[in-house]
Amino acid sequence: MRYDYLIVGAGLYGAVFAREAVKAGKTCLVIDKRPQIAGNVYTREIEGINVHVYGAHIFHTNSREVWEYVNQYASFNRFTNSPVANYHGELYSLPFNMYTFNRMWGVTTPQEAAAKIEEQRKAAGITEPKNLEEQAISLVGTDIYEKLIKGYTQKQWGRPCDQLPAFIIRRLPVRLTFDNNYFNALYQGIPTGGYTKMVERMLEGIAVRLNVDYLAQKQELDQLADKVIYTGPIDAYFGYRLGALEYRSVRFETEILDMPNYQGNATVNYTDSETPWTRIIEHKWFEFGDQPKTVISREFSSEWKPGDEPYYPVNDEKNNALYARYRELAEKEPHIIFGGRLGEYRYYDMDAVIAAALAKSREELRR
Ligand code: UDP
Repeated sequence: MRYDYLIVGAGLYGAVFAREAVKAGKTCLVIDKRPQIAGNVYTREIEGINVHVYGAHIFHTNSREVWEYVNQYASFNRFTNSPVANYHGELYSLPFNMYTFNRMWGVTTPQEAAAKIEEQRKAAGITEPKNLEEQAISLVGTDIYEKLIKGYTQKQWGRPCDQLPAFIIRRLPVRLTFDNNYFNALYQGIPTGGYTKMVERMLEGIAVRLNVDYLAQKQELDQLADKVIYTGPIDAYFGYRLGALEYRSVRFETEILDMPNYQGNATVNYTDSETPWTRIIEHKWFEFGDQPKTVISREFSSEWKPGDEPYYPVNDEKNNALYARYRELAEKEPHIIFGGRLGEYRYYDMDAVIAAALAKSREELRR
């Protein structure tokens, strides 16, 4: 059997592209090197709790189109992400908002909070922020930078904040209101029953082969289809011939605890630099669980090395320049489309991955 498309990677990009291609009357084979579908949004049930095996995923978007799209494959609950930051036992609300400013400085009005930030920004002498450190201080001042950003960011990225791009911290809202919603998004929630089920529905009726390593059997697999959609790391595809792109990897230590409530929140970030983990996820709270036990995951961040799972592209100037050269190689391959966080080397959120897969499939299937 020969297919129109061989789709490498059964994560969100691959699943959406496959679904759209099949809708357009094309045939697809989806392969994944893991023993399961759903890429890094994979959830597995443990003690009746949907565990986010490859890290916490909270679906949020401002795109009505994307929201309606995912709602065809799952119903979403009303979960709102409101992480808590733990700095040496002091607890702060995230994202940075009036609750945070009140706890940090005792201020009670937006005017006082704004004045405090402005005072600290001025004292630091920052006019045009050039890196994450300067961007953070100019947004929220030095106290919050020191207690809630510096340690966490250095653990997360393994690099000092003055060597990281400013855009990373601009992912987080800063609000002069009492609003602990982490995302500025019109739509937000967790798919009821877990992400795996949602991806399963996207892939319904589509051929899927698991435990298949594309790069190890490329020649043979390429024979199966006219075109390839590749969602793995772009540098790996080209055998790292221009050098390796840098990624951050994440390791999880997951425990089942014989208690109904460990930390009272889905996410607690440990923002000091001494605690070795970046955050602890208590999975049941994504779905308001009432199970007698609980499952927690401590998250440890590390520099990616061959054999590890790549999670976060390090989108600094050096890596973006190298990616641009890989991109040039990619343009010369007419029968392959690179997509997703790893294929496009971009710190994509889930909704952006879906939007990109929809846009690309439209462009492709129109032909
Ligand atoms: N961040 C921080 N302190 C926190 C949470 C986030 O300094 O308590 C910074 C950190 O640099 C992180 C970035 O904000 O990499 C983006 O955070 P986000 O929660 O969006 O990261 P993700 O959930 O994608 O890992």
